[in-house]
Amino acid sequence: MKHLLHSFKLVAGMMTTKSAYTGPLWVQIGISNACNHRCIMCWDHPTYVSENNPYPSATSRRYYQMHPEIDHTKGFMDLGKLEELIVDLYSIGTRRIELVGRGEPMMHPQFDQIVETIKRRGFNLGIATNASLLNPDRCEHLVDHDLDRIVASIDAGSRDTYYRVHTRTNIESFDRILSNLRVLHQIKKSKGKKEPQVMLSFVISRLNYHEAFEMIDLGKDVGADQIVFKYMVPYENIKFLELTEEEKRNFSGQLPAFMKKAESYGIDLKIEPPIGDTTTNPKLYHKKTETVYSRIPCYIGWYFSLITAEGSIIPCCQCMEKMGDFREQRFRDIWYSKRYSNFRMSMKRFPEHYDRPTNCACDKCALDKINATIYNTLHFFNPIQLFEGQREFSVFQLLPAIFKGKTTKGAKVVNRKSGSSL
Ligand code: SF4
Ligand code: SF4
Repeated sequence: MKHLLHSFKLVAGMMTTKSAYTGPLWVQIGISNACNHRCIMCWDHPTYVSENNPYPSATSRRYYQMHPEIDHTKGFMDLGKLEELIVDLYSIGTRRIELVGRGEPMMHPQFDQIVETIKRRGFNLGIATNASLLNPDRCEHLVDHDLDRIVASIDAGSRDTYYRVHTRTNIESFDRILSNLRVLHQIKKSKGKKEPQVMLSFVISRLNYHEAFEMIDLGKDVGADQIVFKYMVPYENIKFLELTEEEKRNFSGQLPAFMKKAESYGIDLKIEPPIGDTTTNPKLYHKKTETVYSRIPCYIGWYFSLITAEGSIIPCCQCMEKMGDFREQRFRDIWYSKRYSNFRMSMKRFPEHYDRPTNCACDKCALDKINATIYNTLHFFNPIQLFEGQREFSVFQLLPAIFKGKTTKGAKVVNRKSGSSL
């Protein structure tokens, strides 16, 4: 019932005005900027950077130049401020939090207390982690406090590859992480609990694509509920690790076999295509950039918000526009502020006037599918057709994803018969 009321207010805002009548459906909170790993594919703590250019891409350079306050060594969110934020979020109807930030959340000195505080308030809570700071006590604590999800970045099917992807680890790290994930599974089993659901995340690059079957075996070994394969985003510093077209074809050719294997273990396997899915159509990316937001608005300003460890409020992961700072103002005042409303308005006007804020990478937007699903749900009488081959969620996949953080299982290629085409 509370979800329905929240959705109703949300839709009212999206359809009628530039204002929000309720809080975001979910938020990402970065409680830590620091990380104990250096991963080849990381935007924030990359392995390969030159001395004169410490950023992996032009977008990250822009991000960090706009946020000089970010400190990668000791940037942890203040616990008192976090508690205030949790109260605010709850009071405006938000019920889902993801602890995802620019670093490893378990490095926060009060991590266990943070989980306790958020869960005590009744939020649905997920964390994205490299799992290196799990240990049997912490596993027990997470199970006892009903954490809902753990997304563990593993990125390798073998110890040697792990060491090459997650650099600055040691040779035992891989075994230790797997052993702790096994412990977590055992604790859940012994207490008769299904949560936290465990998702293993594998970013696919030239270093590990040949180990996909082993990665699925690892999922079985540690009792994972889901596995996600994501193609690595080839930032400027790691272009040489991107799969060649032939390797992509080989990998894609094996997808049915990967699916079959995962299914035989009872694991839900999700494969996220590369941005623009260049395997199927090299021109797709450009086509997307030019066309999607000339037909639909971006609704992010109603359903999501991102809060950095320092307290900056940002509308989405690819938009550096700062809406406010919770050290100076309460979150709810920032969320309902004129500035946020103006942002919503400019995103809503996209179809008439594509004028993205200078500091938003809307031309590389990864949330177009969510925005298109919302648009088609709100305009069910005249839905748009995404370009050929584009994957689209159904609203029945999207809602559990939004409220419960579940993956959009089985997003499929849509071939609408009616509706106008992009
Ligand atoms: S564990 Fe995550 S945050 Fe840390 S370096 Fe690797 S990708 Fe980056
Ligand atoms: S990057 Fe995408 S989700 Fe973010 S503001 Fe731009 S269009 Fe919206």
